[in-house]
Amino acid sequence: GKKSNKNSLQFYSQSMKDASHQAIQIENELRRAIENDEFELFLQPIVNLANNKIEKAEALIRWNHPKKGMVGPDKFIPVAEKSELIIAIGEWVISRACQLVKQINELGYRIKISMNLSSAQVTDRNLFSYLHTCVNNYQVDPYLLELEVTEGVLVDDYSVANKLLSKVRTIGMSVSVDDFGTGYSSLSYLKQLPLDFIKIDRSFIKDIVSDDNDKAIVRAVIAMAHNLNLCVIAEGVETEEQLNFLTDNSCNSVQGYLFSRPVKFTDFIELLQH
Ligand code: C2E
Ligand code: CA
Ligand code: CA
Ligand code: CA
Repeated sequence: GKKSNKNSLQFYSQSMKDASHQAIQIENELRRAIENDEFELFLQPIVNLANNKIEKAEALIRWNHPKKGMVGPDKFIPVAEKSELIIAIGEWVISRACQLVKQINELGYRIKISMNLSSAQVTDRNLFSYLHTCVNNYQVDPYLLELEVTEGVLVDDYSVANKLLSKVRTIGMSVSVDDFGTGYSSLSYLKQLPLDFIKIDRSFIKDIVSDDNDKAIVRAVIAMAHNLNLCVIAEGVETEEQLNFLTDNSCNSVQGYLFSRPVKFTDFIELLQH
């Protein structure tokens, strides 16, 4: 009746309040986390199938929370993206990635680091100069830095993205399309934007051994990418069978638990030494 309706309405708005209260709490904690330097960049190797060597690492952020321990990005990046905090966190990621490239270089390895950019970063007027300043401060070869941007960002913020990506490529950085195939967007941006790599989303790789549709899609994406002079990275490779399919179908590089989970810097260096 009326009463239970009213109660369910109250319950609903209470849970909405709880959710927004929780978001505000995470937001405040994130501010503190930036000040206290609580973030860490883990590195996940990307292996080139032409020589079976680690050529690159994706930088993936973790929050080393004083009480909760290691918190994954899915728990706080979406909150940060709803506020201006993503800019400060993104800048921390860029400068830390430059430091890591330099440290790896000093150990005698030339390994690229790719980093994830949120939509608000791509449209941030200061992003390019921030990138440029970091590259100069840490004296890193910009060729060793790569930016990962999702299809959605490339399409929704097309003209801003176009200008930014053109500029970063003139200084030698490369650009990859992240989570390719999940953005429900037209493909015309692929021929218009300055891009280097396509990262095929994990969802197409997961059942690739058993699902003929996934096989057809992945083969077609690889063929299309190569005709557009783009290289292909397969994400989420967990088994030898998936790897064999990708090798047989001329995929350029692979990333996934089969090789390694994202790891701390010192463990990444160990992976390089083997
Ligand atoms: P993403 O960019 O698609 O990153 C790949 C995610 O897949 C990572 O999760 C990685 O740990 C996971 N992964 C890699 N290989 C495998 C595999 O073989 N199997 C499975 N099941 N998973 C695998 P993670 O580190 O939790 O990151 C989640 C998302 O958070 C990222 O997805 C990215 O969108 C976002 N993210 C991470 N770091 C940053 C950052 O520094 N800035 C921004 N803006 N977003 C970030
Ligand atoms: Ca990514
Ligand atoms: Ca991805
Ligand atoms: Ca993703």
